[in-house]
Amino acid sequence: GIDAGAARAWVRGAADVFGRRMDYLTGLDTAIGDGDHGTNMQRGFAAAAEAVGSGDHGTAGEVFTTTGRTLISSVGGASGPLYGSLFRTAGKRLSGAGTEPGDVGSALEDGVEAVGRLGGAREGDKTLLDACLPAVAALTGVLRSRGDVVEAARAAADAAAKGAKDTEDMVARKGRASYMGQRSAGHRDPGAASAALLFEALATAVG
Ligand code: ADP
Ligand code: MG
Ligand code: MG
Repeated sequence: GIDAGAARAWVRGAADVFGRRMDYLTGLDTAIGDGDHGTNMQRGFAAAAEAVGSGDHGTAGEVFTTTGRTLISSVGGASGPLYGSLFRTAGKRLSGAGTEPGDVGSALEDGVEAVGRLGGAREGDKTLLDACLPAVAALTGVLRSRGDVVEAARAAADAAAKGAKDTEDMVARKGRASYMGQRSAGHRDPGAASAALLFEALATAVG
C-alpha cells in the first residue's frame, strides 16, 4: 500500500509540480474562469507540503488529513474546499482501515465521493471530478486485482489525463465556467487539469 513516506512524497511532489505548472493552470482558468486556479493550487500544496513535513513517521491517513485541512484553510477558491475534503475524507477513512493493498484506493474513492456531495457535481459536468473519478476507479481496479501500487498509480495518472482531455468537449454545469454556458466548450477544465497533475505526481512518488 501507500505508507506515510509515500503519502508525503506525493504531497511534496504535487507542491513541486503545481509550482512549475502554475501559469498553465492559471491560463486555463483565465479562459473559462477567474484566472486564479494556478495560484490557488500552488499556494495550497506549498502550505500542505510544509504542514506534512518530511520523513516516514506517522501514517498515510494522518498525512492525508493534514493535507486536507491545510488545503481548506489556505485556499480561497472553490478548489480548496473540494480538494481539501477529498484528502480529509480519505485520511479519516484510512485511519480506520487495515493495511490491505486496496485500502488507499477505497479511501481515495470515498474522498472523491465527498467532493461530489460537497459541490453537487456529477460526471460530465466539466469539473475536477471528470479526472478524479476515472483516476480512483483505475487505482482501485488495479490495487484489488493485482495489488501493485506502482502499476495502480500509473493507471490512475493515465486515466486522469484522459479524463482531463475529455473535458474539452464538455459544457460546464458547475463552478464559474458554467456562467459561460456553451462557450465553455472547447476549453479544458482547469480543475480537471490540476487533478491530472496530482495523479501524475502520485505515479512519480510511488514509481
Ligand atoms: P474558483 O472557481 O473559486 O476561482 P478555482 O479556480 O481554484 O476556484 O477552481 C476552479 C475549478 O474547481 C474548476 O475548474 C472545477 O474543476 C472545480 N469546481 C468548481 N466548482 C465545482 C463543483 N461544484 N464541483 C466540483 N468541482 C468544481
Ligand atoms: Mg478560479
Ligand atoms: Mg477564484
